[in-house]
Amino acid sequence: MNQFDCVVVGGGMVGAASALSLAELGLTVAIIEKSNPAVFSPEQTFDLRVSAISLASEQLLKQLDVWPQLQSWRMCPYKRLGVWEQERSYTEFNAQDINQTHLGHIVENRLIQLSLWQKMHQHNNITIFCPDTLIKLEQNSADVELTLSSKVLRAKVVIGADGANSNVRKLVHIGTTGWDYAQSAMLINVQTEESQQDITWQQFFKTGPLAMLPLPGNYASLVWYHEKDEIKRLSTLSHADLELEISTHFPKRLGKVTVIDKGAFPLTRRHANQYHKGRVLLLGDAAHTINPMAGQGVNLGFKDVKALTHVIATAIGNGESWQQADVLARYQQKRRTDNLLMMTTMDALYLSFGHVSPLAKLARNAGLMMVNKLPNLKNKALAYACGINSD
Ligand SMILES: Cc1cc2nc3c(=O)[nH]c(=O)nc-3n(C[C@H](O)[C@H](O)[C@H](O)COP(=O)(O)OP(=O)(O)OC[C@H]3O[C@@H](n4cnc5c(N)ncnc54)[C@H](O)[C@@H]3O)c2cc1C
Repeated sequence: MNQFDCVVVGGGMVGAASALSLAELGLTVAIIEKSNPAVFSPEQTFDLRVSAISLASEQLLKQLDVWPQLQSWRMCPYKRLGVWEQERSYTEFNAQDINQTHLGHIVENRLIQLSLWQKMHQHNNITIFCPDTLIKLEQNSADVELTLSSKVLRAKVVIGADGANSNVRKLVHIGTTGWDYAQSAMLINVQTEESQQDITWQQFFKTGPLAMLPLPGNYASLVWYHEKDEIKRLSTLSHADLELEISTHFPKRLGKVTVIDKGAFPLTRRHANQYHKGRVLLLGDAAHTINPMAGQGVNLGFKDVKALTHVIATAIGNGESWQQADVLARYQQKRRTDNLLMMTTMDALYLSFGHVSPLAKLARNAGLMMVNKLPNLKNKALAYACGINSD
């Protein structure tokens, strides 16, 4: 039978989390994904793509019962977050200040996806079509017809979670606003002299920030933002030459490192004009691709999953027809403004640190020092970034 309540296109972190959440509500769900995630073995090197998982995202992953699996594989908690431009403006946020044991965990994207896939395989309400790909999508008043490379499916509702270049978004003609940033980012996995650290930090420069995200053991993920040409040049260097560049440019607190792996990523901003059209909804990067500077990308996607699940669960609880357009529209109302606010805040930060004038620099550093002196404001900002306070 190829008829489902929901078909989720894209089995990345957000698509897999939405499939599981909707299946838990008792809906029949199909998920379509191009490629199977590779199985885990402890000797595998760290994935280059890691995410700073907020407390709110951790809560979702616990609800979906994948957190214990991730803990048994590998992850690294952090308790402190350091931010500065000039040394004198160094500002540190601490989990204790908001009565938490930690601010988040650095987890490899691939492992988050894999843990969710293991659960999907065990769930009676979920059918996985993989490897497969969506080719055509046609909506009518009763349902949606999805043509895959191997078969045709029918769904009451379709979730587009197929990433930044979403085919679902294109097939239903939802436009986007956005641009490519002048910078790129280089992700570098390194072995550190320091043993495992409980801090993640970021120093700002006019060319973009330099960041350190701790990994389990004496490893770390470095993020180097710079103009595209400079990132291209750095990408061509041998590991030994890159180590020299790191020791020249990264803050001294990093200590000596050995490069293990590296990769460059372009930075784009895209925001879908609608998250909802007829029976189709967009979630995660398909709806919003954000500057990764504050590590909010997948955390926003997980907030989308929570919001959609809440909307549908409430409708079912109230005896409403959950697939009706006015019910589905509530998801967009809950999420689009929040995501836009986060994207705009990141851009304001990006533009502000790109200003070279001495006055702008003075204002930025004074701003950071002021935050240090206003614990109330500092703790509110921290709680919001961790996803435990929506104000
Ligand atoms: C340099 C960099 C650093 C980042 N750091 C962080 C961070 O620290 N914290 C954070 O929260 N976020 C971070 N992000 C963002 C984060 O990686 C994304 O927000 C996240 O991966 C989005 O997840 P997703 O499931 O929405 O999309 P994706 O991860 O892109 O998954 C989409 C899935 O859909 C599948 N797919 C696509 N098209 C089709 C099709 N036609 N048919 C079937 N399947 C299809 C793909 O194979 C893929 O598995 C970073 C991004 C970058 C570029």
